[in-house]
Amino acid sequence: MQVQAIDQEPTLNDILAIDSEELAERMLEPATMRAIYEDTEEIIGRSRTPDSLYSLVHNAIKTMGEVWGNLAEDSEPSACRKGCSMCCHQSVMVTAPEVLLTVKLLRDNLADAEIDQLQARVADRAKEIEGRTTNQRMDSRIACAFLVDDICSIYPARPLQCRGGYSEDVEYCRSLFDDRETTQQGVADGSVDGRYMLIPKMLYDSAQVGMAGALKAEGLSADPLEFTAAMAVALADPNITEKWLQGWPVFDGARLVRQASANGDQYITEADAAV
Ligand code: SF4
Repeated sequence: MQVQAIDQEPTLNDILAIDSEELAERMLEPATMRAIYEDTEEIIGRSRTPDSLYSLVHNAIKTMGEVWGNLAEDSEPSACRKGCSMCCHQSVMVTAPEVLLTVKLLRDNLADAEIDQLQARVADRAKEIEGRTTNQRMDSRIACAFLVDDICSIYPARPLQCRGGYSEDVEYCRSLFDDRETTQQGVADGSVDGRYMLIPKMLYDSAQVGMAGALKAEGLSADPLEFTAAMAVALADPNITEKWLQGWPVFDGARLVRQASANGDQYITEADAAV
């Protein structure tokens, strides 16, 4: 799953007060959280502008790229290949600055007519995911709006959680995609070996939690958002970044909220939660 709670740690001290066993269980790594938290706080503390928002995401991407780049050399090779897109049929949890940077890059590189077409396509996909948990999306084969012909169309600008998602075994991904429930039960009872790579997931999730913690400490929104739903909102409003910086609740309809269920917690967009 690409979802990871980012809405529960208001400050770095709160994050680090969680005991190490729980941090490990939640796949979070304190040094990474602290580093990205401090970088984010410094960047946003210097100036609160669209450029500083873009900088803090660039910083997290660059830092984690270097850290994971070094570790990847000593890790088992990933099974991920261009054109393999099973994991892109889940909810992707993002922070607002990740969404705002992606929109800026798209607006910088696409003509107005292309943005209009994209906006319509993303809005349609956002409607399709309404009322669905990440499991239901996978079961219904509803892809991220930016998956085109099984390839990520925004690969250089993809969110942090997408960057940390690597598989060790394509057969595990296929089993999850084709028979999610049985596969997840197998992972839970130990009969199936979950084969996502732990280190990149832990690094990128920790970076995202550190970034969200600093945003919240600085009085900005750290709400966890669903990527496609948030992009639908952002593409529709040329002034979205300024509004978000001023505290407008622009992404309220794209929030992911946690719901307890018999099979563990599930995330669902806020609009869906009322359904
Ligand atoms: S942004 Fe790209 S990598 Fe991430 S889920 Fe969407 S298509 Fe896949």
